Amino acid sequence: MSAIENILVVNSGSSSLKFTLYRIDGERRLANGLVERIGSASANMVYRRGDEPKSERPVSAPDHAAALRLVCEALTDGRTGVLKSLDEVDAIGHRVLHGADLFRDATLMTPENLERVKTLVPFGPLHMPPNIGGIEACQKIFPGIPNVAVFDTAFHQTMPDCAARYAIPDEFRAKYGIRKYGFHGTSHHFVTLAAAEFLGKKPEETNLVTCHLGNGSSLAAIKNGKVFDTTMGLTPLAGVVMGTRSGDLDPAVVLELVRKGMSADEIDNLLNKKSGLLGVGGIGSGDMRDIVNAAQDGNASAALALDMWAHRIVQYIGGYFTLVGGADAIVFTGGIGENSAAARAKVLSRLGCLGVDFDEEANATRRGPCYLSRPGSKVAAIIVPTDEELMIARETYQVVTK
Ligand code: AMP
Repeated sequence: MSAIENILVVNSGSSSLKFTLYRIDGERRLANGLVERIGSASANMVYRRGDEPKSERPVSAPDHAAALRLVCEALTDGRTGVLKSLDEVDAIGHRVLHGADLFRDATLMTPENLERVKTLVPFGPLHMPPNIGGIEACQKIFPGIPNVAVFDTAFHQTMPDCAARYAIPDEFRAKYGIRKYGFHGTSHHFVTLAAAEFLGKKPEETNLVTCHLGNGSSLAAIKNGKVFDTTMGLTPLAGVVMGTRSGDLDPAVVLELVRKGMSADEIDNLLNKKSGLLGVGGIGSGDMRDIVNAAQDGNASAALALDMWAHRIVQYIGGYFTLVGGADAIVFTGGIGENSAAARAKVLSRLGCLGVDFDEEANATRRGPCYLSRPGSKVAAIIVPTDEELMIARETYQVVTK
């Protein structure tokens, strides 16, 4: 194979298709953007070349293949594009939600492997079909170019059974694959490597608690650079309180709701879309900025939502710190972890007992990558901005050059 220079990263979701084109040498982002509201009359495309201002325009994108064609046109456009022809794309990396037990690492999508991915649709009925559709569309538009699937679950495959198994009879794991898989793996992987570099340590000698805090949130216990435990489970509903998801519950709550007459779909909708900060805060928004503002304005429900959010995170940080035998650093990333000083302060102000010497001024003023703890702090607290697209490009490069 000729040298790999340009890698296209595709994140194909239920109604959107995000893309980033990298020049892998120097990890330079040549262009990125998205097509959103695919399949609706109000489809829209956002495109940005390098660091230039982004442009936005309405488009006709009845399906993901049409959206991908628009992306290709934009990338090769004589005026605003970055490629002379599509032949300059050497490999394509795809974000795929679930690899279950079948895929421990990023994997080349041969026809056989793609068939195996298709068997995993029941693990992600909303996300997997568009993920697979993105791969199939690329196979048609870029014949002969390798497609690599990078799974959100893969980095968590190192969890020991004592963390990954649920305490129910094993037949349910064997028959239905019911166990903890974990998500946001690409982000936890990226920030683990970046945090080790920031701390001047080798990843395999680094213990961390990585906190990916966004609309969806998860924490991971990182022992010697590998995942030892994580908060999300069979699905991304488990763990901490999120924008619209409940996180952990007594499983009997679900039984009680069934007995009260709710269907599986209704409970699914309640716990995934109407709970979390949205459900508790009572201000019609699960966005952290709105919750913080309302709490600061004296809204008691919003203040409670924020307290519950922080309570669960502190609880998991303490637990994971113990599980990995002491961490070098607590790492914050994701939309909230990187940007919301107020939300971070709620967590960081309670980590003194672990040896984190919280620097309030740094938290209020600095942007990542940076320390949030004072020099000499026994345990560091840091912000490391995540970059899942870049991690997908790196993994794709590794697979196709292996
Ligand atoms: P994500 O899902 O990672 O995109 O994160 C979305 C969350 O990050 C939302 O709750 C936002 O309120 C929060 N967020 C994003 N930007 C900021 C900001 N500048 N300040 C505070 N919160 C932010």
